[in-house]
Amino acid sequence: MNQFVEFFVRLFDTSDWPPRWHCGSWTDFHGWLYIISDLLVFTAYSAIPFLIIRYISRKHDARFIRLYFLFAGFILACGATHFLDAATFWVPYYRLSALVRLLTGILSWLTVLALIKVLPTAFTLRSSKELEEEVEQRKKAEVKFRNFLERAPDGILIVDENGIIQLVNAKTVSLFGYDREEMVGNRIETLLPDRYGKMHPFRRFHTYTTSQSTEIAEAFELYAVRKDGHEFPVEMNLSPMETDEGLMLTASIRDVSEKKQLEKVIRDYSITLERTVKQRTEELERKNKELEQFAYVASHDMQEPLRTTASFVQLLRKQYKGKLDQNADIYLDYMVQSSDRMKNLIRDLLDYSRLGREKEKRRVDCNSIIDQVRADLTRVMRDSQAEIKTDHLPLLDGFPTELKLLFQNLVSNSIKFRRPGIPPVVHIKAHHNHGGWEFAVSDNGIGIDPQYHERIFVIFSRLHNRTDYDGSGIGLAHCKKIVELHGGKIWVRSTPGNGSTFYFTISEI
Ligand code: ADP
Repeated sequence: MNQFVEFFVRLFDTSDWPPRWHCGSWTDFHGWLYIISDLLVFTAYSAIPFLIIRYISRKHDARFIRLYFLFAGFILACGATHFLDAATFWVPYYRLSALVRLLTGILSWLTVLALIKVLPTAFTLRSSKELEEEVEQRKKAEVKFRNFLERAPDGILIVDENGIIQLVNAKTVSLFGYDREEMVGNRIETLLPDRYGKMHPFRRFHTYTTSQSTEIAEAFELYAVRKDGHEFPVEMNLSPMETDEGLMLTASIRDVSEKKQLEKVIRDYSITLERTVKQRTEELERKNKELEQFAYVASHDMQEPLRTTASFVQLLRKQYKGKLDQNADIYLDYMVQSSDRMKNLIRDLLDYSRLGREKEKRRVDCNSIIDQVRADLTRVMRDSQAEIKTDHLPLLDGFPTELKLLFQNLVSNSIKFRRPGIPPVVHIKAHHNHGGWEFAVSDNGIGIDPQYHERIFVIFSRLHNRTDYDGSGIGLAHCKKIVELHGGKIWVRSTPGNGSTFYFTISEI
């Protein structure tokens, strides 16, 4: 302990040793070689820290600053030991020299530790060659970006937060007719009609700046104005972009003049088309009405003379049957049968033209309609052992009498056109479909050849002989008219021998 205190108390005391010149026998050459070498090392070691500090003070982004300072201190301390070594030739400060050596040792180790600490980071640093390569790559990417930008089919411009144009591509230049230099640095409003004032999309910059995400992109249709003052419609996509210079808006601009013109042509054309279709439909409806009116009047007026003819033929047959020759009796029978058929045809025609005269639609329960149909067809069903199955059927708005006729025709056809020896089974289903109801009436009857699937809906079209199946061929024409009256359509799917399914829709609109 005494030695320790004495060491520091006598730090600058030189009385214990002679100057180094007098320790041993130095030749002048040997002594001065030692001294000059030490001084050279000292001056060089003193200069290095200054250079290091100068480097750090200039290079603001230099990394590992602490290490640089440690390094400078350690070199300075090394220099000091050499200086003291040279000085001991005259002044033997051996205690001070030992202290400086200790300091140098500590600084050296601190530097070593600091070096060990930064070594992993230092390994990750790119070499200047790597940096050069990266710069090269970036340059190439920038060239590519520029090329892409310049060749883009749309006008692209970048605007800063203050609405100042920062960048434009070749297409923007050709779209607006300004020189590139005229646009860059100018306000975006230069390219927009005055009437927008402050109400244009670029003004809504705050929306983008306050937004958390820069991934939003908005599309607008608006007008832009060329250098010559000509306005043209554009489609614009705005997307924000974070850059070193702050938030920017990238706008891609497409001239849609042609598209707009085309749209206008299409619009005008479709208006004309609509008008023509409307006119034609009205004309058709009118002609249809006239025809219906004619059919109604004709069948109505024909009834009277037919009734008279029929009653006289009946009278003739009653009074003269067996009194004339055998042929006359046969002819009279034919006349009676024909006038009966004629009466039926005219009655059917009259019914057909009367369809749809009911003006008001009403709420109709299809289930109760089927109950009525069942009741009306009790006898036929019993004779043929027919069965009518129904799913739960809907309530809908329609013309009750017509709807009943529709179901009745379809069900009675299913029973009538049954396969010999097979009791008919009729299944009625419905489901909701595209703003209305779709019904299906299927049977296990004789089926219909696909070539007749359209024809059977034409008035008075029949596929069979009257001797095989009775009827006048007006039932499905009735059905078609009723379905159309309800804004729907009717069709059939069937294969001969495998039953038929009649589908029809009833619109709710
Ligand atoms: P009609 O029943 O008076 O003959 P329709 O207009 O009702 O007249 O039917 C036209 C034709 O369609 C019928 O003659 C018949 O050949 C065919 N048809 C209609 N419904 C069915 C059915 N369910 N199965 C087989 N054929 C049918």
